Amino acid sequence: MYLRNMNNIAVIKQSVVDQIDSAQPQLKELALKIHANPELGLQEFKASSWLAQYLTEKDFAVERGICDLPTAFRASYGKGKPAIALLAEYDALPGIGHACGHNLICTIAIGAAIASKQTVDQSGGRILVIGTPAEEGYGGKIVMAHKGAFSDLDAAMMVHPDTVDIATSMALSCQHMKVEFFGKSAHASANPSDGINALDAMILSFNNINALRQHIKSTARIHGIITDGGQAANIVPAHSAAEFYVRAADDAYLDELIQKVLNCFIGAATATGARFEYTPDNLRYASMCNNMTLAQLYVDNMRIIGREVKFPQSTIPLDTGSTDMGNVSQLVPAIHPALAIAPKSVSVHSPEFATAAASDDGINGMCDAAKAIAMIVVDLLSNPETLRKVRDEFKQLK
Ligand SMILES: [Zn+2]
Repeated sequence: MYLRNMNNIAVIKQSVVDQIDSAQPQLKELALKIHANPELGLQEFKASSWLAQYLTEKDFAVERGICDLPTAFRASYGKGKPAIALLAEYDALPGIGHACGHNLICTIAIGAAIASKQTVDQSGGRILVIGTPAEEGYGGKIVMAHKGAFSDLDAAMMVHPDTVDIATSMALSCQHMKVEFFGKSAHASANPSDGINALDAMILSFNNINALRQHIKSTARIHGIITDGGQAANIVPAHSAAEFYVRAADDAYLDELIQKVLNCFIGAATATGARFEYTPDNLRYASMCNNMTLAQLYVDNMRIIGREVKFPQSTIPLDTGSTDMGNVSQLVPAIHPALAIAPKSVSVHSPEFATAAASDDGINGMCDAAKAIAMIVVDLLSNPETLRKVRDEFKQLK
């Protein structure tokens, strides 16, 4: 592939593109090998060691098991600042393998990283690949953020496979909640008046939350399941338990909503006499703060290689979930663009999407995204003015 309008920056970008083209067979092999060996969150021993080994062979200094997570790693090339991090995910889903395409997220990161070595050699600074396990369900980056893995960075980028090409991503703040009611067991027919029904308290809580739901902001979500509803139909349940996710477009509204949801449980406890216990989960996903300067660079660099990417000006979340990249984006200028690897009719987290994650479109998308990210690294490291704009935007939002 040859780029038009060559100037100095374009010459470096041409070289970046050429390097990813020549690394494509190795990147493809790695992406397919990880796809064929799906590992759940925190068990990604094969994937993390293959990625770490590849980066070691490419002269990166690799530390494994960082932040007390055996499958996390940090690989770096160059010294000092600016420090640009490319984030790699590599966990799969139970039963449906790489149906979220994380096998491509990690190869985008390492492809872009090895193509950025030359930029670092010429302009200084440091390129890092941070291996972040267990995005699904566990929130590996939240744990890593608490342990300082993303401090001292100037930018953090990752690209997520999807069915559309969009430079910004929308993600809700999300709090996981574990709730329990403690009642008193009794024979459900012979002496029900001696019992306190913990299951009734839980059912009332669901009904209270259903009543609340009409009056919350349309971007918010509350959803849960009962994980313990009693032991036998003839015993008044002495214990009930449930798990809930409460989500909102921003942290302030999430706090407000959590209190309203807690009131639903407290009301049910009062009605039934059961004791309510709430264990706040440490897993709190933050909403995604898109750095629009980085997002524009993604659009511009994708256009250079012939891929049109949408750039919505509004990033108010609608019909979306949450990601632990949101927590990273609150600490450091970040982007998390969506990369089309399947038609819109396919839904992410489906077996069809898992097939797409190993398809030619998936591999081609991976290479395009690696090129765009490595070209952003060129923009950031070769022009201090660009990096200043990224930082200024971030400071203004904070
Ligand atoms: Zn995902």
